[in-house]
Amino acid sequence: CGIVGYIGRDNAAPILLNGLKRLEYRGYDSAGMAIWQKDGSIMLTRRVGKVANLAAALPVDQDDAGLGISHTRWATHGGVTEPNTHPHSSWNGLIHLVHNGVIENYEQLKTTLSSKGVTFSNETDSEVLSNLIAYNLENLGEEISEKSVYKAIRTSLAAVEGTYGLAIICSKLPGVLFGARKGSPLILGVGKNEMMLASDASAIRARTREVVYLDDNQIVTITGDNFNITTMEEAAVVPEISTISWKD
Ligand code: GLU
Repeated sequence: CGIVGYIGRDNAAPILLNGLKRLEYRGYDSAGMAIWQKDGSIMLTRRVGKVANLAAALPVDQDDAGLGISHTRWATHGGVTEPNTHPHSSWNGLIHLVHNGVIENYEQLKTTLSSKGVTFSNETDSEVLSNLIAYNLENLGEEISEKSVYKAIRTSLAAVEGTYGLAIICSKLPGVLFGARKGSPLILGVGKNEMMLASDASAIRARTREVVYLDDNQIVTITGDNFNITTMEEAAVVPEISTISWKD
């Protein structure tokens, strides 16, 4: 339902929480976030119910590494439970992602991945995406880098039928945030020394009004102050930055 991602110099958790609160009006049943910690680990927190429940579950005054993804879920596949709440993490811990939309062929993909030894821990269509990307990443046989993760995302999404807005991080790749969309809105917010991803401008306008509206079949790679957009076919996209007007 709602996506907010942050990469920058400030603590990610409070910015993401604030973004999620601004998306509450859209309706949802559960909320969660995955945040890079300064020790290099990723902290996953998920709660059924209100964003306030998620906020209460987070450590007070935590100092994080300024990179994270978050989500408010409106369940389509799988009940309203904590394991079904986003972010979803791949079985091998490599990929964490939040997903808006519906993966139509998730059962097929799940069967194929299961036959290759991949394990699943919840009922959602979205978990298939984290496992598929992680599986393809492992099978590239390349070192984990911005390039190889991008490649794994691209090949995985080519196998997917359905709709998605995605924010993705890799646990071996600090400082990089990926986004992709097809049939579900995703906006890149370009701030001062920081960038955001969101499904709705209201989640980011408190921090920046400079935005790039991603188109269907585009992938964005965000590294610190920089971002790079391509099509699913790897063609470079020249971004058009627009300014959200004050009444939006
Ligand atoms: N289909 C996904 C799920 O049921 C995502 C739903 C949403 O867009 O919030 O978890």
